[in-house]
Amino acid sequence: MREVRVRFAPSPTGPLHIGGVRTALYNYLFARKNGGKFILRIEDTDQGRFVPGAEQYIVESLTWSGIHFDEGVHIGGPYAPYRQSDRKEIYHQYALELLAGGFAYYAFDTPEELDTFRKVYESRKETFQYGPQTRMGLKNSLTLPPAEVENMLNTGIHYVIRVKIPEHETIKVQDLIRGEVHVDSALLDDKVLFKSDGMPTYHLANVVDDYLMKISHVIRGEEWLPSAPLHVLLYRYLGWEKEMPEFAHLPLLLKPDGNGKLSKRDGDRLGFPVFPLRWTDPKTKEVSSGYRESGYLPEAFINMLAFLGWNPGTEQEIFSMDELVEHFGIERVSKSGAKFDVEKAHWYNHQYLSKKTPAELARLLIPILKEKQVEVCLEYVEQVCELIHDRAVLIPDLWTQSHFFFLDPEEYDQKVVSKIWKAETPTLLNEYIPVLESIGAFTKENIELHTKEFVQAKEIGMGNLMNPLRLIIVGTNAGPGMMDMMAVIGKEFIIPRIRQGIEKIKI
Ligand code: GLU
Repeated sequence: MREVRVRFAPSPTGPLHIGGVRTALYNYLFARKNGGKFILRIEDTDQGRFVPGAEQYIVESLTWSGIHFDEGVHIGGPYAPYRQSDRKEIYHQYALELLAGGFAYYAFDTPEELDTFRKVYESRKETFQYGPQTRMGLKNSLTLPPAEVENMLNTGIHYVIRVKIPEHETIKVQDLIRGEVHVDSALLDDKVLFKSDGMPTYHLANVVDDYLMKISHVIRGEEWLPSAPLHVLLYRYLGWEKEMPEFAHLPLLLKPDGNGKLSKRDGDRLGFPVFPLRWTDPKTKEVSSGYRESGYLPEAFINMLAFLGWNPGTEQEIFSMDELVEHFGIERVSKSGAKFDVEKAHWYNHQYLSKKTPAELARLLIPILKEKQVEVCLEYVEQVCELIHDRAVLIPDLWTQSHFFFLDPEEYDQKVVSKIWKAETPTLLNEYIPVLESIGAFTKENIELHTKEFVQAKEIGMGNLMNPLRLIIVGTNAGPGMMDMMAVIGKEFIIPRIRQGIEKIKI
């Protein structure tokens, strides 16, 4: 088998959408699985759509996701440079080769002229295409005398080089996911390959670079499927058919209701991020949320993404990156679009968070504590995390589930107060305080023992004491086991908190 070399080739036109991260992920898994190389190439030939910061964002997002490259714009490699604007000089010769072979031609029509044609066609309810049906009536090197073409080129007039699409041909694209796709060339137009400003367009640069970088498989989003027949033609015209990569077009990521493609605007509208990292638009300053900042773990994010369009064919849903590498195969990628499911995203994150050790969770909670200006020792944070380890869905929940270990409640849940706080509760709690004071080693077992003795002597149910106590400690009727919680918080904090509660809580 040919050496596997795959690439992720984003255009830096804005933040990377999670669909893009999934494309990168499948390429990465495919490369690792087949002992191949994974390359990051930046396709920035469309300078008009260039967005500052986007390239850096792409690299940072993939690094955070744990998707690593063997060659690329940020690390170099044997086929450098990997940024198309740095490879500008390379493409012209291939455009000239296509011209020489009669597979391309110069076109001189101005944007205004083409616009006029478009309008005429529109008025007839037709669509104008620069292609086999129209090109012989337009201003190009197929219709103008050679001397005039020469002259125009010498005067520095703006031109483009267009591919000459065959008139009647069924073009076959072999796709690893979709099988053989047939496209009638009459549906294609004579796409621009090169412009007189010296810049190639996406199609030429993409094919030339895939060839020069010895790419074996092109794994990309379904939105590129319509471009594939043109790319197949370019490989043929340039005499590279034997080196042509195999194609795999990945299914679209759909909105949660399945109605259309998950767009950049959907996330914040529907309440979940569509970008891996938070992004601030450099022009409008509009902020879009990111998975990282929303408190997702990269391994959960990746596991969730892997399943949007692929499944292992078994019941197993939790896969580490190494397991994904082991089980991934293009043949199990589905043809139909994958619906984004925010509940599933939460489920994955919860699964991964609850499997973390207290020490690992503490590392995630400490930055939040710093932000809240809470100063405690690491050992204490770890003890807290041990008690709340399966309660958080997203990282910020570690705080919502634990703040009462660090701070006194600011208020008491009135609904709970009216349900459980009785006229005799303050007296009961005042009598319980000396019991706590008398405990030597303030362990869970000792607290439990003394508390049981106390309620037995009082001939009341455990709940009569524990419910108000929980309200005082947590501020509401939630939280981990009371004995565990009291032991961790410690006698010297628990007792003043009970006193404060007795004073503040009013029915
Ligand atoms: N530059 C294209 C993009 O932005 C790459 C498409 C491809 O992988 O060929 O998605």
